[in-house]
Amino acid sequence: SDARLGRITKAETTCNYCAVGCRFELYGKDGDVLGVRPADPEATPANDFSTCVKGKFGYDFVNSDDRLTTPLIRDGDGFREASWAEAYDRIYEELTRIQTQHGTDSVAVTSSSKCTNEENFLNQKFARQVLKTPHVDNCARLCHSSTVAGLQQTVGYGAMTNRINEDIGETECYLITGSNTTEGHPVLATRIKQNVRDGADLFVFEPRKIGLAEHATQYTRTKPGSDIAWLNGMVRHIIDQDLHDTEFIDSRTKHFDELKEKVEPFTPERVEELAGVPPEELKRAAETIATADTCIFGWAMGMTQHAHGTRNVLAITNLALVTGHLGKPGAGLSPFRGQNNVQGGGGDMGPAPHNLPGYQDPTDDEIADKFAEVWGERPPQEVGLRLPEQYEAMLRGDIRGMYIMGENPVLSEPDISEAEEALEELEFLAVQDIFLTETAEYADVVLPAASNAEKYGTFTNTERRVQLVRPAIDPPGIARTDLEILCDLADRFGYEWDYDSAADVMDEIAELVPIYGGISYDRLESTPEGIQWPCTDADDPGTPYLYEERFNFDDGLARFVPADYAGPAELPDEEYPLMLTSGRVLYHWHTGTMTRRTQVSMDHVPESFVTIHPRMADQLGVEDGEYVRVVSRRGDIVVKAEVNDVADPGVVFIPMHFAEGAINELTQHELDPVSYIPEYKVSSVRIEPLGPD
Ligand code: SF4
Repeated sequence: SDARLGRITKAETTCNYCAVGCRFELYGKDGDVLGVRPADPEATPANDFSTCVKGKFGYDFVNSDDRLTTPLIRDGDGFREASWAEAYDRIYEELTRIQTQHGTDSVAVTSSSKCTNEENFLNQKFARQVLKTPHVDNCARLCHSSTVAGLQQTVGYGAMTNRINEDIGETECYLITGSNTTEGHPVLATRIKQNVRDGADLFVFEPRKIGLAEHATQYTRTKPGSDIAWLNGMVRHIIDQDLHDTEFIDSRTKHFDELKEKVEPFTPERVEELAGVPPEELKRAAETIATADTCIFGWAMGMTQHAHGTRNVLAITNLALVTGHLGKPGAGLSPFRGQNNVQGGGGDMGPAPHNLPGYQDPTDDEIADKFAEVWGERPPQEVGLRLPEQYEAMLRGDIRGMYIMGENPVLSEPDISEAEEALEELEFLAVQDIFLTETAEYADVVLPAASNAEKYGTFTNTERRVQLVRPAIDPPGIARTDLEILCDLADRFGYEWDYDSAADVMDEIAELVPIYGGISYDRLESTPEGIQWPCTDADDPGTPYLYEERFNFDDGLARFVPADYAGPAELPDEEYPLMLTSGRVLYHWHTGTMTRRTQVSMDHVPESFVTIHPRMADQLGVEDGEYVRVVSRRGDIVVKAEVNDVADPGVVFIPMHFAEGAINELTQHELDPVSYIPEYKVSSVRIEPLGPD
């Protein structure tokens, strides 16, 4: 009936899982999400009509009975319900007490790449302006911080250089490495597969024979953690064969001679020894990439989550520069970012200890003064602690209070027992989230937040495209949006934040962040395809691909930064003879907070598992489907064995999405010295069979 239809609400919005940034219409009714339908093709630049299974069916979590509906305050071992006023008072009193006793630097704030740009901007503003602490960070530290650090050194911007549709979808050639694209970025993988069907070459270099390898011109199995060797080897072979783009190198780059000298030792034979890559496969890939008119270099966390993650990124960037595959349509460096808004919220908005919004340097006086003009005072000018350092500081008692927005470090930090110990050491923890997560269980105050189906804002997808997010329903109970909560809290601390809406926050972002200088809600409402940064003023249409004429340095030149070889920090030995690696599965998402509450995901992949090669399974006496104990130097977990030959006999794999059988009980704390990203991708383990029962 009309009355029934009248209650159905609809919003054109952006997917809240991965950073492909698919857009669709979200339908709601009486506080529940009903479903998803394709949106106007003009408004869906990354996906047209498609979505993956998570985008299409992954909304159950919004309707879940587990949603937090009211603030909670710790009461013995549990929680009691509280009013907003009481919860805010407690946060104000406790953080103020800790800062008075131990200094402003004794508290830290965590932001969330799940939340909007506006909420992340306010989160770091809350840390810097209200709490006056430089210790603010977010989960980008754990996924692509090494990408950002590597690209900033070589080409300037820490972001994908090109577009999804027009460039990734149209290139002549791909090198994909460290990305299980069909599972992690499904709609983007579909673009690649379509283009390969139309004749593009696809080279996949991976320790595991992932889904995309089935479509590849050549799949090459590599040893985990050996990427610098084969990337340097490709550069060496290209120079050796005189296939490098001398015109591009001469006119647009510097330090080529240093690179040439550093890659010289990486002969095909040495690469084979270090990385297990057969010489003919290395040469074929290198020659095809060098002679193609255009090539896309795609990667994800298989490249970044290493103790030498930044060097991996330098190595792949050197390959793109040597072959001149930058600054033109169909070419580019394509880090596939993870979370829906990790590019914008986790990077561009500056909730990071060494970057103000827009990657601006907090130690620079001119920049600090620019912020002071708008905020009334300079933000703290020292570089704060990175996320893993914050957990160390918590264990030492240097950080005693913490405010976490939408992040689940109990599952996402490497070495879970250490993260739990650190949270236990805190005098006060406030968590703002949509569920009582494994981390919120440690909190003193829990604040109920709105999901992305319940708020206005913007996300910036992996191709730097700023897109609107709109509410289809209201938040449950008395939950509030993260934006409202942060404004309320600032007010409780005596700061008048005069924002009527997310649009007002974007106006402040545009004022302070040059790459967002021309972005406003008025423009976004009338630009269905969104706007790609840099967009410096109201007349700037945005930048579909970067570096057409200049790299982002004063002299406009890209820098070759040679990458010295480093292998995994922990190698197999007698006690721990297997290499463990990790990754995503299509049906789940990150720490599983959302997908473990989504029917379709649990129907397909209900629990964690470890993949074991048939030969290794035989040797261990393990049958497919039996439970096994996986043990590392950090801890042990029990998971189901899945026997298959996706990886070598010496390599096992566990997905990262589960609380039971959580892989980070096993992973190690070794950090990349530049980006401080932990080495999640390679740890040594042993497997103990538990028998058929
Ligand atoms: Fe959402 Fe990513 Fe799937 Fe698109 S590909 S629907 S953005 S999870």
